[in-house]
Amino acid sequence: MKSKFFESTQLMPGITAIAGLGGENAYLVEGTKRALLIDGLTGVGSLKAFVRELTDKPVTLALTHGHIDHNGAAFEYGKCYVHPADLCMLYPAPEADTGALALSRHTDPAAKLDFVVNGRILKGDAHGITIDDVVKACPIATLPIGEGDVFDLGDTQIEVLELPGHTAGTVVFLDRARRIVFSGDACNLNTLVGLPGSTSIEEYRGALERFTRHLDAFDVMYGGHGTHAVDKIIISQAIELCDKILRREDDAIESEHRGRKQLLALRRGPNYLPENGMLCNIQYTEEMLHPAKTKKML
Ligand SMILES: [Zn+2]
Repeated sequence: MKSKFFESTQLMPGITAIAGLGGENAYLVEGTKRALLIDGLTGVGSLKAFVRELTDKPVTLALTHGHIDHNGAAFEYGKCYVHPADLCMLYPAPEADTGALALSRHTDPAAKLDFVVNGRILKGDAHGITIDDVVKACPIATLPIGEGDVFDLGDTQIEVLELPGHTAGTVVFLDRARRIVFSGDACNLNTLVGLPGSTSIEEYRGALERFTRHLDAFDVMYGGHGTHAVDKIIISQAIELCDKILRREDDAIESEHRGRKQLLALRRGPNYLPENGMLCNIQYTEEMLHPAKTKKML
């Protein structure tokens, strides 16, 4: 199904991928009683209305993390499940100098429009999409999720597993019966672990290590960007790469992400994948190799 804002693809019976204009993905998992919408895209166009065309079951929204390109539909459904460590991305916060409440960048309509206009699909051509198409942020109910929580959809159970790194509150969703994981931005061929709200590389490595106890339960991961399922071998490769980074033995190519200086761990070949044949790559900053000694307080 295709609309001005979204395009859906059935991956297998009961599972539909939905792409937004910025190339970001959500997944709709339907059971006999309920449907689980994993991630809410950027919020340009009504994802709620689009999903209503795909299923008549009651829909529960759960976020892999709080980022701008994953939280959009939360402000249409009025509630979502999210890990508490990412809550700060969904609410206004006091500005450091004035104390006045300001929208988080992750809910700012102008930033959201910019995300899709500069996204991979539109490539700078806005196609008549304006700020009026952006779902406006509003107060919502946020329900906490964490390791071991299960969404019971009837004949289908989806488990929550924590995999912090990209953000401190990143979770992934395991469909044990189909042996797949919906991984958001947790581990992919350009994992960003140098953003405000990311953990250190050392903490990310620890989370990946803990996550390996689930490797027997699934084969592939469907991520928040890109259309292909990624083999689970990417998890052990990411651990190896974190070790290289921590030993300062990676390629450490100077790069940037949305104006912030970053290091890219592995040199890319012409097809975007690392030259050394690995699936995973990591963008990070040198200041965030190890856990911060002090916590920033709001
Ligand atoms: Zn993200």
